[in-house]
Amino acid sequence: MAVPSDLILTLNQEAKARAAQGIDITNATIGMFFDDEGKLPVAPIFSSANYVNENYFAYSSIAGELGYIKRVLPWFFGEDADRFETPRTCATPGGTGAISLAFHDIKLAGFEPIVLSVCWPNYFTIAKFHGLTLKQINNFEGGRLDIRSMRKAFLSSSKPCLIINDPCHNPTGYSMDETDWNAVVDLLNMKNEESALILDIAYLDFAGPGASKRIADAIAKIDSSVPIYVCSSFSKTFSIYGLRLGALSLLNMGKDSYARIKQSARACWSNCNMMAMSILRDAFASQEEIAKLKSWIEENRKTIEGRASIFINEANEVGLKLEPYKHGFFATAVVPDAFATALKLKDQNIFVVPSSEHLVRVAFSCVPTPKIPGLAKAIKIASED
Ligand code: PLP
Repeated sequence: MAVPSDLILTLNQEAKARAAQGIDITNATIGMFFDDEGKLPVAPIFSSANYVNENYFAYSSIAGELGYIKRVLPWFFGEDADRFETPRTCATPGGTGAISLAFHDIKLAGFEPIVLSVCWPNYFTIAKFHGLTLKQINNFEGGRLDIRSMRKAFLSSSKPCLIINDPCHNPTGYSMDETDWNAVVDLLNMKNEESALILDIAYLDFAGPGASKRIADAIAKIDSSVPIYVCSSFSKTFSIYGLRLGALSLLNMGKDSYARIKQSARACWSNCNMMAMSILRDAFASQEEIAKLKSWIEENRKTIEGRASIFINEANEVGLKLEPYKHGFFATAVVPDAFATALKLKDQNIFVVPSSEHLVRVAFSCVPTPKIPGLAKAIKIASED
């Protein structure tokens, strides 16, 4: 059964409605971080902002505030961003906006998109909107990325575009290692400009040390004729889900491509959230602010890491099989019937999301740590009933 992309939001609303009746629920549905008090933490730059600054209410340019767009890649990749050849960045409403622009652009160029079959379901909705069909490949083989499946799909396509959500893959929490990345680089370099890469780094800030360097190293090895669309989101990084800010960065693409992307943005949403962009522009201009933000995020990341470790240890103890988890907001449990399991759990006021017929996604990012013990056991029991 296909998983509708709005199922996550629907289940989240259902969980919230039940909580509003005073029922004690566990809501593990949504890709948001809540702290251990169950609150959405607000990043210091946003809690201290002056929201009536009149400049925040003006239009920005289509590409976005210069001080924002030029610092998006340095935020995620640090000094390694200097290794990317003439990146051109356009502000977007969240990562979704970036992915939508990229999908539209590869459709125009005639690329065939290839995606892991278990992925963020909104990819399918966005692809459909742009008249694209996603070629689906198997996620894992032997606890690792199934490179064989990727290679087969890639080589059998005359113009393949790999869609890669890394690190902290949604929904499994897999993060690609150097071997995985080298295999991807080799594939892209086989076809050069007849291939493309859409890289969704929505969760990069939650992967811990090493991930951004690993990805930057891979990008540096990709032939300069391969178009790369880097889709970033600040929703997760700064807990600004509703402020809608992200960016699409074009690598190995010329001025014409950038002009085309800006035209597409103009046609869809015109310009982006000036308030969020200005606050980030000012923060990114100060090394002191950047250091404060990085340490704020690190605290959040560690909280998630702690929850993941409790959940995974318990899953191992009770024999609940998980897809290979490395980092990030979610893990997926392998069960005989994901929809039936999710329904049974809902009866116990535990909300999880079926990601496919045999996988349930557990977003421990939004479950306070004291509620994590017992969750894996409850899923295991519900899956066996
Ligand atoms: N990519 C992935 C894998 C996601 O899970 C999400 C959000 O859940 C996004 C991109 C887009 O995030 P947003 O549009 O909220 O910035």
